[in-house]
Amino acid sequence: MTDTLINRRDLDFLLYDVMDTASLSERDRFSEHSRETFDAVIETADRMAREKFAPHNSEADKQEPRFVNGQVEMLPEVKEAFKAYAEAGFIAGRFDYELGGMQLPESVIAACNGFFTAANPGTAGYPFLTTAAADLIKVFGSDEQKAKYLPPMLDGRYTGTMALTEPHAGSSLSDIRTSASPTDDGHYLIKGAKIYISGGEQSISDNIVHLVLARIKGAPPGVKGISLFIVPKFLTDDRGGVTGRNGVALAGLIHKLGYRGTTSTALSFGDDAPCHGYLVGEPHQGLKYMFQMMNEARLGVGFGAAVIGYRGYLHSLEYAKERLQGRKPSESDPTKPPVPIIEHADVRRMLLAQKAYVEGGLALCLYGARLVDDQNSHPDATIREEAGKLLDLLTPIMKAWPSEYGTRANDLAIQVYGGAGYTREYPVEQCWRDNRLNPIHEGTNGIQALDLLGRKVWQDRSHGLQLLMQRMQVDLEAATTSRCQQWALSLSETLQRAVKVTQDLGAALQKESPDRVLANASCYLHLFGHICVAWMWLRQANQAEILLADAGYAEAERNFLEGKLQAARYFFHWELPTVAQDIVLLQNRDDTCLEMRAEWF
Ligand SMILES: Cc1cc2nc3c(=O)[nH]c(=O)nc-3n(C[C@H](O)[C@H](O)[C@H](O)COP(=O)(O)OP(=O)(O)OC[C@H]3O[C@@H](n4cnc5c(N)ncnc54)[C@H](O)[C@@H]3O)c2cc1C
Repeated sequence: MTDTLINRRDLDFLLYDVMDTASLSERDRFSEHSRETFDAVIETADRMAREKFAPHNSEADKQEPRFVNGQVEMLPEVKEAFKAYAEAGFIAGRFDYELGGMQLPESVIAACNGFFTAANPGTAGYPFLTTAAADLIKVFGSDEQKAKYLPPMLDGRYTGTMALTEPHAGSSLSDIRTSASPTDDGHYLIKGAKIYISGGEQSISDNIVHLVLARIKGAPPGVKGISLFIVPKFLTDDRGGVTGRNGVALAGLIHKLGYRGTTSTALSFGDDAPCHGYLVGEPHQGLKYMFQMMNEARLGVGFGAAVIGYRGYLHSLEYAKERLQGRKPSESDPTKPPVPIIEHADVRRMLLAQKAYVEGGLALCLYGARLVDDQNSHPDATIREEAGKLLDLLTPIMKAWPSEYGTRANDLAIQVYGGAGYTREYPVEQCWRDNRLNPIHEGTNGIQALDLLGRKVWQDRSHGLQLLMQRMQVDLEAATTSRCQQWALSLSETLQRAVKVTQDLGAALQKESPDRVLANASCYLHLFGHICVAWMWLRQANQAEILLADAGYAEAERNFLEGKLQAARYFFHWELPTVAQDIVLLQNRDDTCLEMRAEWF
């Protein structure tokens, strides 16, 4: 079983050759960094992920956390790995030096986190949630809240959660019912129930900081009446000393298909004891604040899905080189030795599809991380603004595409293993089960599709879409070899058709019921997802051609670059053409699904 989590040459290629991540060190914010410090931190992540996270991945899957005598029992290795991650400074990796952080670019910290997820997505969930919760408190919390919660969260004594979902309100957060009643001393009493809260109870940290969405009594209905509260598991004084247990309690652990190492909890607030909550920012702005965490989490979900897909791909690649079975169709002599299954074209198809999905998905996610860096630290204000608009437009795609296709890659990895893939003796079925969460949480992919077609594309008079087309144009024009130019042409033609369909859908939205126009939103998400990933493959192919022109490379490097070009070819020949179907359905505003009636099923 391979212990490679992400191919380091591939990551270097994406980070440095394609995305030019080393140049970030020229920015003020990252001036104390260099390619060497980026590489050193990535090396640490790779090693720590292999040594501390990977070894208990399968065991944590088999031994789900259990609720025993009021405590959550879990493997001790989870806590050890969490502690090692925190002590190495990764929770605070992207935070300012003044906060004890490493002030690393998002591109680098995302790459580091890729190793942890590839090694063990269940254990990685705890620190990732903690970073995201701390980030939200840093941006929207009061000075007092920051002083109280950030230091222990960033050094790993406290963990964080995001508590949005309620039993009756998942996709539709506007319907949440958890309430907040003001008290005389300025804080609130929280009452209600939340479900599926990841890391909502565990045995790895001294305290848990829940970020809870609730309605202040008398608030307006819908999303405009939702506020955000800090609800700690233990109440503390200003010096961090515990003053009592808060009234947030574990109502039960939820048992799941995958991601079993991360506890999934049902939480009750204020049932058995008063539950104290502390308002973050202004009343009724909670969903807006929470969107910062959700957007970050959505990019993280896409990234995680790509690397779990990647892990399955590497396992199946290794297996396909070792497993001997059958002979080529051209070999008629049954006494000849069997060949490794990688020699069969159909197995290569499954491996190439995985490679195209996971390396394309990873490129897309690293591009998203780069947009975060440009939005936060580019010296040119226009580029900062443009990066923000692109990020806004692309977030649903960066969440949904890798989660759809990373899982599909894991499905193909199982198929490459044959019967062995279906057993629990081999690792690929766990990859698939873990990855299967990603199209569901952080807003289902159906909700991402509605967000893209119902909102994001039209925002700011479609400026984001125009920016995206300009960025693509640069890479279309950069294609110089005949094969890259051919792929650039097919991307350009598909893009033009997508733009035309977008204009038609925009016009239809003015005249027709949105129910009909948005009925096929998932086709639109697929169309744009494939276009974006094709663009990522063109960027990789353009770069591979430049590097291949240098005849001085050793054979291994030439093989790597030829592999990139073949995977690009696969995407352009086998994948991009599949959007023709989406375009037809969207163009006709096909109403087959819309017109189907519940009673006809
Ligand atoms: C393992 C796990 C971990 C999670 N972690 C957290 C967490 O830490 N914090 C948290 O707050 N939540 C968490 N969640 C909850 C998760 O975000 C929700 O499950 C998700 O948002 C979907 O909500 P739901 O399950 O209620 O499904 P529903 O909203 O009931 O959706 C069911 C189906 O209907 C579709 N649908 C719903 N509404 C529409 C619509 N308007 N138009 C078209 N289709 C629609 C959906 O796409 C989906 O296919 C987690 C869930 C899981 C499974």
